[in-house]
Amino acid sequence: MEELLRRSEKLTTVGQLAAGVAHEIRNPLTTLRGFLQMQQRSKSISQLHTDIMLSELDRINLIVSEFLILAKPQAVQFEIRDIRFTIGDVISLLDSEAHLHNIEFESHFYSTPVLVHCEENQLKQVFINVLKNAMEAMPRGGKISLFVGEEEDGNAVICVEDEGEGISKDRLEKLGEPFYTNKEKGTGLGLMVTQRIIEGHKGKICFDSELGEGTRVTILLPGTKRELQTEQPGAAG
Ligand code: ADP
Ligand code: MG
Repeated sequence: MEELLRRSEKLTTVGQLAAGVAHEIRNPLTTLRGFLQMQQRSKSISQLHTDIMLSELDRINLIVSEFLILAKPQAVQFEIRDIRFTIGDVISLLDSEAHLHNIEFESHFYSTPVLVHCEENQLKQVFINVLKNAMEAMPRGGKISLFVGEEEDGNAVICVEDEGEGISKDRLEKLGEPFYTNKEKGTGLGLMVTQRIIEGHKGKICFDSELGEGTRVTILLPGTKRELQTEQPGAAG
């Protein structure tokens, strides 16, 4: 009996993981498909598009290899990156899809570097997840405002604000729970992965939302000057 229970728990974990991997691979595949479709309609794709396609293929490769070597802990490589470029890459990646849905990105980025000690591919995954959620919340289109800056203590701040359907109070509490989704084709894994990655970077993510008004996602990441202060007991996160 105990053995059965143990086995079924193990199966659930493997199933969750597989679903997670599938989810993470679907995003770059959608982008690749979009660009190839553009090419097919004889709108020739640019050097920038080709570069993005190559880096997306690399990312799929990375995700798959991570999945395969999960048994052995792999070394994640943290590097110092100007997060404005990381987010810029993600925006150009999603731009054509946004355009199709009458969605416009409005960027307010600091004019000076916003440096973060990070695993850039993981952070790209975070921004893709958050931006896609924002886009999916606006089926009739609208504006997504992005702010990238730095607090006085050097921590990076990223804000993504949409004009979408918003999230009710009881649903706000459920965000990040695996498989929590209100979408027909959703997996409810995006925010779980997102939160794990942010935790891995010793950062924080929070959601402010008003039903029918839109949602603001704020992400704080420790800058290169010093780590984020650990949270006070009892403080909401
Ligand atoms: P999925 O996108 O597959 O549903 P996620 O983990 O990315 O899974 O998101 C979980 C749920 O959180 C979504 O189904 C949606 O209900 C809610 N959500 C997340 N971001 C937003 C947003 N910007 N606006 C409205 N709802 C959101
Ligand atoms: Mg999502």
